[in-house]
Amino acid sequence: MRANCWYGINDVRVTNVPDPTILNPRDAIVKITSTAICGSDLHLYDGFIPTMEKGDIIGHEFMGEIVELGSEVTNLKIGDRVVVPFPIACGHCFFCEEKLYSVCENSNPNAWMAEKMWGHSPSGIFGYSHLTGGYAGGQAEYARVPYADVGPIKVPDGMTDEQVLFLSDILPTGYMAAEACEIKPGHVVAVWGCGPVGQFAMQSAYLLGAERVIAIDRVPARLRMARDICKAEPLDYAQVDVAEALKQMTGGRGPDACIDAVGLEAHGMGVVGVYDKVKAAMMMQTDRPTALREALMACRNGGVVSVPGVYGGFLDKIPFGSIMNRSLTIKTGQTHVQRYMQPLLERIQNGELDPTFVITHRMSLEEAPLAYEIFKKKQDECIKVVLKP
Ligand SMILES: [Zn+2]
Ligand SMILES: [Zn+2]
Repeated sequence: MRANCWYGINDVRVTNVPDPTILNPRDAIVKITSTAICGSDLHLYDGFIPTMEKGDIIGHEFMGEIVELGSEVTNLKIGDRVVVPFPIACGHCFFCEEKLYSVCENSNPNAWMAEKMWGHSPSGIFGYSHLTGGYAGGQAEYARVPYADVGPIKVPDGMTDEQVLFLSDILPTGYMAAEACEIKPGHVVAVWGCGPVGQFAMQSAYLLGAERVIAIDRVPARLRMARDICKAEPLDYAQVDVAEALKQMTGGRGPDACIDAVGLEAHGMGVVGVYDKVKAAMMMQTDRPTALREALMACRNGGVVSVPGVYGGFLDKIPFGSIMNRSLTIKTGQTHVQRYMQPLLERIQNGELDPTFVITHRMSLEEAPLAYEIFKKKQDECIKVVLKP
C-alpha cells in the first residue's frame, strides 16, 4: 500500500509499504477514505518529538471502511464506515473504566520509554513516535486499528467524511479544552492559537455558555475565521500587547478561563522569545512555552488555564508563583476522544456544530509532502488539510 512516512526533519515521503494485517483478535483493518494533517504532526515534521524512526507511517486523524476484522470484534462488520479516535485504548483497564482513555495502561507496548521521560506512560497513539507505541499511522491507504471493539465509532448513513472526520481528534480536543474551563454564565474565555483546535475550542466555549470569547493569533486568515465563524473578538499579538489588551477587555481582572491551543512551538516575542529559541536549540529545554506563560499570567485570580496544546518535555520559566499565589487551576491532557465521539456526533447531526469550516485544502495522499510544506508555512491561508488516499 501507499503511506506517508517520516524520514527526518522537513522530510516526509509517500512510499510503498507492506499492507497491515490482523495481529490480535480485537484488531480491525480500515481502508482509509479520508485522513488529515494535524498541527501536532508538525511537531514530528519539525523534529521536536523524540523516538521517531525513518520510515514510520504518520497521521492520527483518519476514517474509512472496515475491510477485515479480528475474531473478537463483534460490534462492527465488514463494510461499516468508522471514524477512529487517535488514542488507542483497551476499554477495560483502570483508566479506561474512568473514561481516561488517553492514559490507557494497556495500549503502549513501549511504556518503558515513556516512563523514563514522563514518570508513567500514557496510552498508545497512532503515528506518533515510538514513545507512544510506534503504531503505524493513518496517512495511508490502510491502517490496523487495535481494540477496534471499543474505539471506532460507526458513521450514520448520509453523513459525509468531512462532517465526521474531525471526531478523530481536533473536535473533541477543542471541546474538552472548553469543558475543562468550567464555564459559567457571564464568563470570558481567551483562546491562544486560532488553528483548528482553537477554533473548535471557541465554538465549544459558546456552546457551554461563555458570554465572550477572545481569540489570539497573528495570522490574518485564522483571526478572520475566529471572528467571522466563531464570533470571537480577535487580538493580533504582533500588533498589541496581549496582556494589556486582555486587562482592558475584562475590566482589569483578566479572562475567567484561558486556553493554550498553541503548544510547544509557540512563536516567542521579545527577549524571552529569543531565550526560548536558544535554549531549545541547545537542548537545554525541549519546548517553547510562550503562549502558556502568557495564559498563566493573564488569567484572572482563581481562573482555569486549559492546555490542549501539545508539550513534549521540560519547560523553562513557568511562573509557578503566579499559579500558586493566585489560585489558578491547570487542566490538560491528551484528549479522551472516545468519551466525546458520540455526543459530538449528535451535535453535528442536529446542526449545533459543523466542523467542515476549518478545511481550507483538499489534496491527495500522494501530495502529502507538498501538503506538509503548505500547512507548515501557512501558505495560501492554509488552516486544515484533508488528504484522500
Ligand atoms: Zn491531531
Ligand atoms: Zn485501557
